[in-house]
Amino acid sequence: MTDSGEMTRFRERLLALQQQLLDLVATGNEAGRTVELDQARVGRLSRMDALQGQAMSQAMNQRRKIELKLIDAALRRIESGEYGYCLSCEEPIVRARLEHDPAARLCISCASAAESS
Ligand SMILES: [Zn+2]
Repeated sequence: MTDSGEMTRFRERLLALQQQLLDLVATGNEAGRTVELDQARVGRLSRMDALQGQAMSQAMNQRRKIELKLIDAALRRIESGEYGYCLSCEEPIVRARLEHDPAARLCISCASAAESS
Protein backbone atom coordinates (compact mmCIF):
# COMPACT_ATOMS: atom_id res chain seq x y z
CA MET A 1 0.00 0.00 0.00
CA THR A 2 1.54 3.30 -1.06
CA ASP A 3 -1.22 5.81 -0.32
CA SER A 4 0.14 7.69 2.69
CA GLY A 5 -3.26 9.23 3.49
CA GLU A 6 -4.78 5.76 3.79
CA MET A 7 -1.79 4.69 5.83
CA THR A 8 -2.27 7.57 8.24
CA ARG A 9 -5.93 6.66 8.57
CA PHE A 10 -5.14 3.01 9.39
CA ARG A 11 -2.43 4.13 11.78
CA GLU A 12 -4.90 6.39 13.59
CA ARG A 13 -7.46 3.59 13.80
CA LEU A 14 -4.84 1.21 15.19
CA LEU A 15 -3.73 3.77 17.77
CA ALA A 16 -7.36 4.35 18.81
CA LEU A 17 -7.93 0.59 19.13
CA GLN A 18 -4.72 0.28 21.11
CA GLN A 19 -5.82 3.00 23.54
CA GLN A 20 -9.25 1.38 23.91
CA LEU A 21 -7.69 -1.99 24.72
CA LEU A 22 -5.21 -0.50 27.17
CA ASP A 23 -8.12 1.16 28.99
CA LEU A 24 -10.03 -2.14 29.07
CA VAL A 25 -7.00 -4.04 30.38
CA ALA A 26 -6.56 -1.43 33.12
CA THR A 27 -10.26 -1.70 34.04
CA GLY A 28 -10.05 -5.51 33.95
CA ASN A 29 -7.10 -5.51 36.35
CA GLU A 30 -9.06 -3.22 38.62
CA ALA A 31 -12.02 -5.66 38.62
CA GLY A 32 -9.67 -8.55 39.46
CA ARG A 33 -8.33 -6.71 42.49
CA THR A 34 -11.82 -5.85 43.73
CA VAL A 35 -12.74 -9.55 43.83
CA GLU A 36 -9.77 -10.31 46.08
CA LEU A 37 -10.65 -7.52 48.46
CA ASP A 38 -14.27 -8.64 48.71
CA GLN A 39 -13.54 -12.32 49.31
CA ALA A 40 -13.53 -12.06 53.10
CA ARG A 41 -17.01 -10.59 53.14
CA VAL A 42 -18.89 -12.75 50.64
CA GLY A 43 -20.41 -16.20 51.17
CA ARG A 44 -19.12 -19.41 49.63
CA LEU A 45 -21.43 -19.48 46.61
CA SER A 46 -21.01 -15.87 45.68
CA ARG A 47 -17.29 -16.25 46.21
CA MET A 48 -17.34 -18.97 43.57
CA ASP A 49 -19.28 -16.63 41.31
CA ALA A 50 -16.76 -13.94 41.96
CA LEU A 51 -13.85 -16.28 41.21
CA GLN A 52 -15.55 -17.40 38.04
CA GLY A 53 -16.00 -13.77 37.06
CA GLN A 54 -12.37 -13.15 37.88
CA ALA A 55 -11.25 -16.08 35.71
CA MET A 56 -13.40 -14.76 32.89
CA SER A 57 -11.98 -11.27 33.13
CA GLN A 58 -8.48 -12.74 33.23
CA ALA A 59 -9.20 -14.74 30.08
CA MET A 60 -10.61 -11.60 28.50
CA ASN A 61 -7.52 -9.63 29.45
CA GLN A 62 -5.37 -12.37 27.99
CA ARG A 63 -7.20 -12.00 24.68
CA ARG A 64 -6.84 -8.22 24.85
CA LYS A 65 -3.10 -8.54 25.40
CA ILE A 66 -2.83 -10.77 22.33
CA GLU A 67 -4.85 -8.20 20.39
CA LEU A 68 -2.50 -5.45 21.64
CA LYS A 69 0.49 -7.40 20.34
CA LEU A 70 -1.18 -7.71 16.93
CA ILE A 71 -1.87 -3.97 16.87
CA ASP A 72 1.69 -3.25 17.93
CA ALA A 73 3.00 -5.45 15.12
CA ALA A 74 0.67 -3.76 12.61
CA LEU A 75 1.93 -0.32 13.70
CA ARG A 76 5.50 -1.49 13.21
CA ARG A 77 4.63 -2.77 9.73
CA ILE A 78 3.23 0.68 8.91
CA GLU A 79 6.56 2.21 9.99
CA SER A 80 8.54 -0.22 7.86
CA GLY A 81 6.21 0.05 4.86
CA GLU A 82 5.16 -3.62 5.00
CA TYR A 83 1.64 -2.90 6.17
CA GLY A 84 -1.21 -4.33 4.12
CA TYR A 85 0.67 -7.37 2.84
CA CYS A 86 0.02 -10.94 3.89
CA LEU A 87 2.73 -12.27 6.22
CA SER A 88 2.36 -15.71 4.73
CA CYS A 89 2.14 -15.28 0.93
CA GLU A 90 3.12 -11.58 0.70
CA GLU A 91 0.12 -10.76 -1.49
CA PRO A 92 -1.68 -7.48 -0.70
CA ILE A 93 -4.51 -7.88 1.82
CA VAL A 94 -7.78 -6.57 0.36
CA ARG A 95 -8.84 -3.18 1.68
CA ALA A 96 -12.22 -4.38 3.00
CA ARG A 97 -10.44 -6.89 5.24
CA LEU A 98 -8.18 -4.19 6.68
CA GLU A 99 -11.17 -1.92 7.17
CA HIS A 100 -12.78 -4.69 9.19
CA ASP A 101 -9.62 -5.58 11.11
CA PRO A 102 -6.74 -3.09 10.74
CA ALA A 103 -4.44 -5.51 12.59
CA ALA A 104 -5.01 -8.35 10.10
CA ARG A 105 -1.76 -10.11 9.22
CA LEU A 106 -2.98 -12.62 6.66
CA CYS A 107 -4.90 -12.34 3.40
CA ILE A 108 -8.31 -13.98 3.24
CA SER A 109 -7.13 -17.21 1.64
CA CYS A 110 -4.21 -17.68 4.04
CA ALA A 111 -6.43 -16.83 7.02
CA SER A 112 -9.10 -19.33 6.02
CA ALA A 113 -6.41 -21.96 5.34
CA ALA A 114 -5.01 -21.36 8.82
CA GLU A 115 -8.48 -21.62 10.38
CA SER A 116 -9.38 -24.88 8.68
CA SER A 117 -6.09 -26.59 9.48
ZN1 LIG B 1 -1.76 -14.83 2.06
